[in-house]
Amino acid sequence: MQKKSQEKGLLLVVSAPSGGGKGTILQELFRRDGNLRLSVSATTRAPRPGEEHGKQYFFLGREEFEGMIAAGDMLEHAQYVGNYYGTPRGPVEEWRGQGHDVVLEIEVQGGRQVKKLAPDCVSVFILPPSMEVLEKRLRGRGTEPDEAVCRRLETARQEIPCAKGYDYIVYNDRLEDAVADLEAIIRAEKRKYTRNSDCIERVLEDAEAQ
Ligand code: ADP
Ligand code: 5GP
Repeated sequence: MQKKSQEKGLLLVVSAPSGGGKGTILQELFRRDGNLRLSVSATTRAPRPGEEHGKQYFFLGREEFEGMIAAGDMLEHAQYVGNYYGTPRGPVEEWRGQGHDVVLEIEVQGGRQVKKLAPDCVSVFILPPSMEVLEKRLRGRGTEPDEAVCRRLETARQEIPCAKGYDYIVYNDRLEDAVADLEAIIRAEKRKYTRNSDCIERVLEDAEAQ
């Protein structure tokens, strides 16, 4: 069997407008891929019914959040529809060092920051089939009052053009296809020469040892 080096895990940035299907697609991907880890973000927004501190998010007050920024404990952070959101730095580095692929489910300002900090990250933008479908899904989810849905749709119109700064586009029409596309992206990224630059030496060393 071919030997593989202990590779550092991928850093995956996944963005989509609110209601675009990040959560749904990632939930299925995590069910299939045991090597993935999801970064739990911090936010100042209030928990939705059923959300728990430390599971979906770390729910912090503004002062606490700003304290983490000042201490350099956030890999990236942004303000989105009036609240702070940010990625705690520690777990990301630890998991990647252990060879786990780490997913950051973040909006586009954060995506841009990560691309600058870690140019080897893999960025994926999830697009809904149309604005009509996006609105229907967002309303169908039933997690935001009407006014918040309108603000998120308005924000979505500004976010969607940012897809052009991402490495890959995944269309979320049929869920099954979207998940398969994301899996294929991860698989192909792991086989890039730049992530396997010791492959030649490893194969030749084996031959010499025989
Ligand atoms: P996000 O995490 O990007 O805000 P969600 O994953 O919560 O979006 O998806 C928004 C809504 O759309 C949810 O109610 C979800 O069940 C639904 N949804 C997501 N993807 C699909 C799809 N491919 N087909 C039909 N409904 C979908
Ligand atoms: P929601 O309030 O719907 O959970 O998230 C709102 C937006 O914030 C989504 O686009 C989500 O991807 C983004 N988001 C969640 N966590 C982070 C984070 O740590 N950093 C940034 N920049 N955006 C985040």
